[in-house]
Amino acid sequence: MHNCPLFVLPKSRTEFWLDKLTTNTQRDEKACEELTANGWGVLCVWECAIRGRLRLPEDTLMVLVTDWLEEGYANTDITGNY
Ligand SMILES: [Zn+2]
Repeated sequence: MHNCPLFVLPKSRTEFWLDKLTTNTQRDEKACEELTANGWGVLCVWECAIRGRLRLPEDTLMVLVTDWLEEGYANTDITGNY
């Protein structure tokens, strides 16, 4: 649910999946807000960044994570290579 080219909404039980994915997204946003409110930074590493045809090379991923740690944990995400 991050506008990913790998995302495919299942063709069966579509409404169920949309509801579930929307609920998950809202839960994750709430958790992110709560963490941020308590002084945490949130780095979201999407599955496509670490698995599948769009995955990033390990060294690239490590650089991105290291930069995030060194630059003060501002909330952000890492996606696959697209
Ligand atoms: Zn993705």
